Amino acid sequence: MNRSYEVLSDEGKNPIKAWTVGVPFEDEAKQQVKNLAGLPFIHKWIAVMPDVHRGYGATVGSVVPTVGAIIPAAVGVDIGCGMIAVRTTLRAEQLPDNLAPVRAVIERVVPHGRTDNGGRNDRGAWQDAPATHREAWARLKPGYDAILEKHPRLGRGPDLGHLGTLGTGNHFIELCLDESQNVWVMLHSGSRGVGNRIGSHFIELAKEDMRRFFIHLPDADLAYLPEGTEHFEDYVQAVEWAQEYAATNRQLMLDSVVAALRASQLLPAFGLKDAAVNCHHNYVAREHHYGKNCFVTRKGAVRAREGDLGIIPGSMGARSYIVRGKGNAEAFHSCSHGAGRVMSRGAAKKRFTLEDHAKATAGIECRKDVDVIDETPAAYKPIDAVMAAQADLVEVVHTLRQVVCVKG
Ligand code: 5GP
Ligand code: MN
Ligand code: MN
Repeated sequence: MNRSYEVLSDEGKNPIKAWTVGVPFEDEAKQQVKNLAGLPFIHKWIAVMPDVHRGYGATVGSVVPTVGAIIPAAVGVDIGCGMIAVRTTLRAEQLPDNLAPVRAVIERVVPHGRTDNGGRNDRGAWQDAPATHREAWARLKPGYDAILEKHPRLGRGPDLGHLGTLGTGNHFIELCLDESQNVWVMLHSGSRGVGNRIGSHFIELAKEDMRRFFIHLPDADLAYLPEGTEHFEDYVQAVEWAQEYAATNRQLMLDSVVAALRASQLLPAFGLKDAAVNCHHNYVAREHHYGKNCFVTRKGAVRAREGDLGIIPGSMGARSYIVRGKGNAEAFHSCSHGAGRVMSRGAAKKRFTLEDHAKATAGIECRKDVDVIDETPAAYKPIDAVMAAQADLVEVVHTLRQVVCVKG
């Protein structure tokens, strides 16, 4: 049988298995993955997903199993970033012809966009969080207080104010139609300001530790925390907390959007079919692979054990997929987290015009202003090629096409 992945290897380094047949894999990203593969605590190999592209520290679209250490920059600063989606009982024909008011309802109910850290003009945070959000924060807060006690440098931010808010840039909320014309609500967000503080703090601590232990790395951003050290234990505690915050953040937003759509009178009464799929795509988890307990860092990758449901979004103008994992052991039970960028934000802004963007998002109720050009569909890889490259990792359960897209 033909292998479904390409193997890259350098003398003396762990191998790299890349599910990148037929998709772009830039040299800079290859170099980054090779740097990762040279670290002594990698378990077996690095698995590269077809949405791979250059990231901070570690490559986006990489699966990094480690024994005895974690690289906090590989998890990244948007700890627990991920997707949630739910199928509703609404049908396409029940949506109004003009979706602008529906988009406005979503934009009103979920704070999104730029934040000035809780200040007066903070569009991205709650000034007065709803009761559901305050209750959720009351459950989360003791965990953060315990971490803060040991790491006062983390400080406090608008953490309650950020809970149930979208963030900026690539974070989005969509209404989508599946192949059977069912309406879905889907959204993308992470752990907001507090996850960012935790991520940045421990990346800095890891760098300090590297200097202290005279460990030289090919890339300073690959600074790691060795198991058994105090910083390691604290990081695991903090990262697990931030992941919980992120999952809660997504669930709260989904609930808010559903409630607001129901209350809006723009749509007939509707229910939810089956449970929501809520998956992280920037995170670390304790797992067991090839006979060893290890930590698996998925940076821009989703867990895809046999039967796991996951979400692979395309772009603001391309298809997205609800997938079911095939449990491919060689990929450490993983799949891609999206299509992946094919060019930087700067390059996209130079390359594409507003007209290009309007054409690429024709028929979709979404932003069509200059500030969103770095998110235009052509800035991402073709999702069909990305899906084809991981046919042995996941099967497609639903194919979604957005009709409304709210971007942060
Ligand atoms: P990331 O977490 O790396 O920022 O992005 C995850 C993936 O989401 C991207 O690789 C891209 O494929 C997808 N994506 C970005 N913007 C949108 C959007 O507006 N709608 C949908 N459906 N997918 C998007
Ligand atoms: Mn994110
Ligand atoms: Mn993300």
